[in-house]
Amino acid sequence: MDYVEGQGWVNPTITAYAPIELSPAAMVFHYGQAVFEGLKAYLTEDGEVQLFRPDRNFKRLNDSNKRLCIPAIDEELALNALKELIRVDRDWVPSAPGTSLYIRPFIIATEPYLGVNPAKNYKFMIILSPVGSYYKEGINPVKILVEQHYVRAVVGGTGEAKTAGNYASSLKGSELAAQQGYSQTLWLDGKENKYVEEVGSMNIFFKIDGKVITPALNGSILPGITRDSMIQVLKSKNIPVEERAIAFEEVLTAAKNGTLEEVFGTGTAAVISPVGELKWLDEIIAINDGQIGEVTQMLYDTLLGIQYGTLEDPFGWTIKL
Ligand code: PMP
Repeated sequence: MDYVEGQGWVNPTITAYAPIELSPAAMVFHYGQAVFEGLKAYLTEDGEVQLFRPDRNFKRLNDSNKRLCIPAIDEELALNALKELIRVDRDWVPSAPGTSLYIRPFIIATEPYLGVNPAKNYKFMIILSPVGSYYKEGINPVKILVEQHYVRAVVGGTGEAKTAGNYASSLKGSELAAQQGYSQTLWLDGKENKYVEEVGSMNIFFKIDGKVITPALNGSILPGITRDSMIQVLKSKNIPVEERAIAFEEVLTAAKNGTLEEVFGTGTAAVISPVGELKWLDEIIAINDGQIGEVTQMLYDTLLGIQYGTLEDPFGWTIKL
């Protein structure tokens, strides 16, 4: 679908996956007006296909649009278009339940123009990519390096928008983490380098002394849909959960006192990822002896159960195709 100044969003079409043509002067290449989303369609045991809270993704896409001066899309139209696209492209559906389809809606500025202004023309596209069975992938604790030099986002910047530039700015930290054998980076706040923000593509939770704590949304953290869902699951099970600022010092103190019980990340691709180790400067913090904690396991089972339809969905999060 294209945005044309004076006409709005026009030409919704479904076409076979193929390269697209853009002018070398297309504004997205120069000024970074690019926003995207990530969600999944799940194949249930009954062979049905369902989406998990897709309305939230299109709402977040519009929030990102607003921050990047990109015209809003019609969220209902986008959801209907996505359903239609999945119906048309049924080749991805393999026989094995437990497989999913990763969905990437995105918008880029296509106007050929050199000069810093919001573009007059855009393209909104959705591409799909099948993901293997989660049964095979299992649930392995990840090792995370706490980044000291670089920041991903600052309050007032674009951190809470899902825009390409945030990921570009996080590459250096990820590279440094990988060089030390860590698969992920934990970002601290961009002002004081003190408060925990989030991980590369997940929000982060700590269980300290029986309470689950996650950083409050402060404008520089991506408002994860899995994050929001897991807070609701925790509340429904009467497990204390707090959204507030967490100084990394607090995590360190809890680790030293023996009250840091579990750490996990949440995200569409990551699902629920237990964290087995955190490295901060020269200190290595082993969490729960590298084992998966009780709450982490419960959230993992609940989330996948709802997404794949093996558990009831009391929250009304799933939408059948
Ligand atoms: N933070 C960042 C930076 C991410 O890219 C993602 C993945 N979209 C998340 C958090 C988790 O968000 P969600 O649960 O909506 O996938």
